[in-house]
Amino acid sequence: MSFNIAIDGPAGAGKSTIAKTVAKELGFIYVDTGAMYRAIALFLIRNDIDASEIDRIEEVLDEINITIEYENNAQLVMLNGENVNSYIRTEKVGIMTSAVSTHACVRNKLLQLQRQLAETSDVLMDGRDIGTCVLPNADLKIYLTASSRTRAERRWKELTERGVECDINQIEKDIIDRDNQDMNREIAPLKQADDAVLVDTSNMNIEEVVAHLIALVNEKKA
Ligand code: C5P
Repeated sequence: MSFNIAIDGPAGAGKSTIAKTVAKELGFIYVDTGAMYRAIALFLIRNDIDASEIDRIEEVLDEINITIEYENNAQLVMLNGENVNSYIRTEKVGIMTSAVSTHACVRNKLLQLQRQLAETSDVLMDGRDIGTCVLPNADLKIYLTASSRTRAERRWKELTERGVECDINQIEKDIIDRDNQDMNREIAPLKQADDAVLVDTSNMNIEEVVAHLIALVNEKKA
């Protein structure tokens, strides 16, 4: 039987950084489900399909083949055989992803793939609906969050260090808008599962969060 960890939380809570590190320390496979949704959004953008065109999206879904590969422990998202990791992290794709992931047909397509991955391996999966919907029987569920201001500050710092000019208030507004869209959609909205452990990282650094999560895993395994 595989041991599964579900991590959910809003945009910019540090899920992927933390999840990647914890998975590596535990020897688990890290599955970034947001990247899968992003790859579908990228396909739609490239084909000039708007998030509101539900009929067209349903029509083309069969043409979209998403697979996951690993290279030096890093997850590569393959869109019809192409590694799209370097194209899916833009704001444009992020906003499109949040809109597209409200559709049931899109979610159902990825749900199957995500469950298959967890059946066969010890996985640490992060997203918005992992504990509530994808892996309701996960051995450990974490809800990772931080205040919108803290999340905006982290994003601002990351962009500024990369030389990208940006406005912190605009970043915070975008984060709040994305939270609202993810938390208020009809299907699989972002919310803390009843049995998830809440971890607020507003006043914690990465090392502290990683250590806390590893301790929670060890407690569960004991
Ligand atoms: O985590 P990330 O920022 O890459 O996710 C991008 C978007 O994908 C989220 O804002 C959310 O709308 C969607 N998503 C989702 N369910 C997941 C993972 C991501 O709806 N399990």
